[in-house]
Amino acid sequence: MPNNSRTVLVLHPLLAPEMAKLEMMFRVVRLYNEADPEKALQTIKNDVVAIVSNFATPVRRGLIEALPNLEIVAQYAVGYDNIDLEAAKERGIAVTNTPDVLTDDTADTAVSLLLALSRRICEADMFVRVGKWSSGSFPLGTTPKGKTVGIVGLGRIGRAIAKRLVAFDMRVVYHGRKQKAELAWPFYKDLEKMAAESDYLVLACSGGPETHHIINAKVLEALGPKGYLINIARGSVVDEDALVDALVHKRIAGAGLDVYAREPHVPDALKTMDNVVLLPHIASATLETRTIMGEIVLANLEAHFSGKALITRVV
Ligand code: NAP
Repeated sequence: MPNNSRTVLVLHPLLAPEMAKLEMMFRVVRLYNEADPEKALQTIKNDVVAIVSNFATPVRRGLIEALPNLEIVAQYAVGYDNIDLEAAKERGIAVTNTPDVLTDDTADTAVSLLLALSRRICEADMFVRVGKWSSGSFPLGTTPKGKTVGIVGLGRIGRAIAKRLVAFDMRVVYHGRKQKAELAWPFYKDLEKMAAESDYLVLACSGGPETHHIINAKVLEALGPKGYLINIARGSVVDEDALVDALVHKRIAGAGLDVYAREPHVPDALKTMDNVVLLPHIASATLETRTIMGEIVLANLEAHFSGKALITRVV
């Protein structure tokens, strides 16, 4: 379907092979490479029919309204809290995402954080590298076996995390908008109550206004001085100031974070703590998964401009 008169505004690049395919299908404008993005946008705004975005690139009402011929936003991620869905719906603009294909890698990352925290893997690695081993043994860790993990958001990724942690002989409980009748794991409508009964609180819910700061000072207090917080969901889910405060005052035992309130900013206080593991939003970042995600973005664009049903439609 080569039609280079159609312009795609790319806010975040796909991997090189998928970018090459995109360029065979469309005229591609890489806004992130433009010295003056505002000026570039003014020049091409009437030509843009599609946007390729990801979690780090806001697609707000202002941008949507500035593009009179926009037809589709193809998100290179499963979460779409960076997109103003209402503004898209009002204009009949389609929005697609990349669900399922990143579930396993993201769940693996959550489990990696849980194990790294419990067994102090990053600290222990540093202990060897700086030559401390010759002067004594490394302090003991904590076993996840037999402990309770409270999962916030038992969707695709939450379930994949639960499945893995059951294999570690952990007890799974969960919180979400509604109980899943088909699952036997205990459901907590009250998040604070679940936190109080959990040794680990793992966040796997969607971002956006509904979940903004649902992890607040009270929930962290309930998690308690032996409890760990793991967040692979979105930074907006956690009140980051309350989290730093809880860690500084040892009101929780530690945190494993892949996502932050103002990425790529990470609070300096967190960087000084041994009981915190910090990742740069890499939960789905494997070559295999990012390749498939890129292919889904292309397939959705191709389907849309061929008049076929979208592969993974959000709205
Ligand atoms: P999903 O299947 O749609 O699951 C979303 C879950 O969030 C559902 O279980 C839902 O609960 C829960 N939820 C929604 N609103 C809630 C609320 N107000 N309170 C509590 N729970 C709420 O999506 P998914 O594929 O598992 O992905 C989940 C999220 O993970 C994505 O939206 C994205 O933000 C994040 N993610 C992050 C990375 C990363 O790189 N760190 C990678 C992939 C995904 P119900 O089941 O009760 O509706």
